[in-house]
Amino acid sequence: MDFLDTPQEAAFRAECRAWLEAHATPRERSAGTVLSILETGLDDPGELERARAWQAMAADEGWACVSWPREYGGRGVGLTEQIIWGHEASRFEIPDHVFRIGTMLGGPTIIVHGTPEQKARWLPPLLRGEEIWCQLFSEPGAGSDLAALSTRAERDGDEWVVNGQKVWSSGAHYSKRGMLLARTDPDVPKHKGITYFVLDMEAPGVEIRPLRQMTGGAHFNEVFLNDVRIPDADRVGDPEDGWRVSQTTLLSERGSLGEMLGELGMVEALIALAREATAGGRPGADDPLVRQELARLFTESAVLRYIGFRIVTAFSHGRLPGAEASVAKLAMAKLLSHATALGVRLGGPAALSGPDPWRTAFLAAPSLHIAGGSDQIQRNIIGERVLGLPKEPSSDDRQISFRELAARAATART
Ligand SMILES: Cc1cc2nc3c(=O)[nH]c(=O)nc-3n(C[C@H](O)[C@H](O)[C@H](O)COP(=O)(O)OP(=O)(O)OC[C@H]3O[C@@H](n4cnc5c(N)ncnc54)[C@H](O)[C@@H]3O)c2cc1C
Repeated sequence: MDFLDTPQEAAFRAECRAWLEAHATPRERSAGTVLSILETGLDDPGELERARAWQAMAADEGWACVSWPREYGGRGVGLTEQIIWGHEASRFEIPDHVFRIGTMLGGPTIIVHGTPEQKARWLPPLLRGEEIWCQLFSEPGAGSDLAALSTRAERDGDEWVVNGQKVWSSGAHYSKRGMLLARTDPDVPKHKGITYFVLDMEAPGVEIRPLRQMTGGAHFNEVFLNDVRIPDADRVGDPEDGWRVSQTTLLSERGSLGEMLGELGMVEALIALAREATAGGRPGADDPLVRQELARLFTESAVLRYIGFRIVTAFSHGRLPGAEASVAKLAMAKLLSHATALGVRLGGPAALSGPDPWRTAFLAAPSLHIAGGSDQIQRNIIGERVLGLPKEPSSDDRQISFRELAARAATART
């Protein structure tokens, strides 16, 4: 494990820090820092304008998407540097979260698999925050087992006609484009009959219904697709090669680890809250149970930081982190749940009864146990790759056609 940056990485870190110090406001250490990685939506309409102004300025300066090649407006850096950027950026207020699905997942996918015409059409407005993207992968019957998706796309001349339903689609209600996976050949095994499209979210037949969360926000949606026509020019990659294309999208999510493992300052914020609680006459910094919990969170944060070093080490040795990423994801979700529960406890009844960032963070924390691969899926990976436990019982669902699989599932349900 490498704890220190290489001289090149240190130089890049210094460059990031200098630019951020000159252009961004340092982040206050509070529940808001926790919320910033849990919440992806827009609650205040003025937020979008501020976000767009930031993104256009960062694009002009070449800092909007550091990992994109220079020819598309990025800095052409590798994943290690992208993590370094995320780590440094986590100390600042950067209102770019609504663009991240597009800039961190969509852009890299188009850069690898898009045609020159698609790159010219989609990348500039994406980079500058003029067009927001969302991810239309999950469906009511396809999440952990994404390849089970059943949204259909049928060829009709120069167009495809799409019918089906997506769910959990973060930010779909303010997005211009959606990365869409649809089944184009049901007569081959489930991973092989999928095609990747970029959908114009304003096309006729796209119906977006926001879902209200327990935080009070409405950041994800159900998206219904009824005879939606997509030009063939908006297909990414070959027909039936969508699973391979989607792996670029999913792997790109790892670049966002930097911020997750960054300096959230969460324990410091909780210590300040514990002192306030004591001053307000509630159990706080002088309470042995609170002190014990703070010490546990401090330790868990330190462990997570070391896992982060392992991940960056893997990237800088040209290796994709496997089980390390699963351990980090699992540990992060657990840490946030414990920390936000303590935040609510320290805030006392007022934190529960009125609008309070710790309460919102507490109610948002369960989502991290599901998003980006659930806890159980991460445990399966750790069980197999770290503990050497036997693989899940194998099934023949990679051999038989999707049509046959769907028929068997329907029979099993009756
Ligand atoms: C905050 C948030 C934002 C999201 N944003 C998007 C988005 O923008 N676009 C998008 O496409 N999707 C999005 N998702 C969806 C996310 O990818 C899925 O929720 C996730 O993959 C889990 O799928 P599922 O909800 O269908 O649960 P399922 O896969 O149905 O799982 C149900 C339960 O069974 C368990 N389980 C499933 N398979 C196994 C197994 N093999 N072994 C053990 N346990 C198992 C799971 O852990 C879970 O507890 C988002 C989710 C969240 C929470």
